[in-house]
Amino acid sequence: MNYEDILVRYGEMALKGKNRGMFEAQLIRNIKRALDAYPAVEVEKAYGRMYISLNGAPYSEVEPKIKKIFGITSFSPTKRLNSFELETIQEAALSVMRDVSPAPMTFKVETNRSNKRFPHRSMEMNNLIGGYVLRNMPGLKVDVRKPEVLLKVEIRNEGTFISCLDIPAFGGLPVGTSGKAMLLLSGGIDSPVAGWLTMKRGVRIEGIHFESPPFTSERARQKVVDLAGIVSQYGTGEMRVHMVPFTKIQTEIRQKCPEHYLITIMRRCMVRIAERIAKKRKALAIATGESLGQVASQTMESMNTINHVTNMPIIRPLVTMDKSEIVKIATEIGTYETSILPFEDCCTIFVPKSPVTRPNPEKAEKFEAELAELEALIEEAVQNTETIIASSRPKETETMDLF
Ligand code: ATP
Ligand code: MG
Repeated sequence: MNYEDILVRYGEMALKGKNRGMFEAQLIRNIKRALDAYPAVEVEKAYGRMYISLNGAPYSEVEPKIKKIFGITSFSPTKRLNSFELETIQEAALSVMRDVSPAPMTFKVETNRSNKRFPHRSMEMNNLIGGYVLRNMPGLKVDVRKPEVLLKVEIRNEGTFISCLDIPAFGGLPVGTSGKAMLLLSGGIDSPVAGWLTMKRGVRIEGIHFESPPFTSERARQKVVDLAGIVSQYGTGEMRVHMVPFTKIQTEIRQKCPEHYLITIMRRCMVRIAERIAKKRKALAIATGESLGQVASQTMESMNTINHVTNMPIIRPLVTMDKSEIVKIATEIGTYETSILPFEDCCTIFVPKSPVTRPNPEKAEKFEAELAELEALIEEAVQNTETIIASSRPKETETMDLF
């Protein structure tokens, strides 16, 4: 069936007291933006829910877009009638049931009547609609305990709403309600998932990628832009990615610092640069894909040593997750296939044989003191950073000056 309306539920936001109005306004903006290809679409708020009137937009195209909007807990394609006439409602309920595929064996009607002027009470309506559907769909039975399909009929002041599907969405908070963070985005499996989870809490993100040409290729860069494009579908449909030239710093670190501290010092440099870009872009946090104990460079000591170079919060949404849990999310959100493409990363090229598992900030500082030009190199990398706008719509990627 080509449904004309969608009923949207948004659980957690109802708990947010004073902020509620702001969350709802942002959710409406995000829904409209996700559906901006269909200008006739209307979004209307009513009693802790929202109704989307498709006005001709095809439901099958809209559904996957709605699923990606954070803040929505579930939604139902709905048939909306402006009529309160029993026969019209019965007929519409039947057509909704007929469209369920595969055809169910059992169902149950659940009527909710908030329009008290409507002459039939809820229980009576359940029988009137249920009986009508049963007469017209031989073989179908009522099961009040565990029906395959729950046919919901809501009789409200603004119309009658009939739905039989409850499609779960991701929940969370609408992107744009919790400030901005800079995501350290590599081409791996973890950091896109970390970005997605950060966005799920309402945070807008921009990516920062460190590349080391000529050791890293154009294709490795494109992979990162592609990943940003996929993740951006869950936000505004666009994501800035700041490409930081990292070759000079990496080369300098490799020449001057002991091998087992290379990764630690490299990460500290990444965070220093990320902090500067964050300040320019008015972001309040840095997010990474680190997971405790996953590799030698992601121990508690390592995270502590890295944190020492900044006062900004570092959000690590994956810190307690197993790799299998991360892979599951990556598959679900559509980044996995791109992440596993085999292109070199700046870290894999310069990776030492045995990184220190228990680094400490004092030693890192001592080794960094050997890098006479460190401050200048960091500032130079920031100045030469190039910003790309990755888009969920292919071939719309554009390059622009930083900041
Ligand atoms: P990922 O799958 O995200 O690459 P990983 O398991 O390979 O993670 P590391 O290579 O140790 O882990 O990197 C840890 C984190 O550091 C990454 O999740 C990412 O946030 C950041 N990071 C690593 N390399 C880069 C890079 N080239 N550019 C930007 N951030 C990076
Ligand atoms: Mg990596």
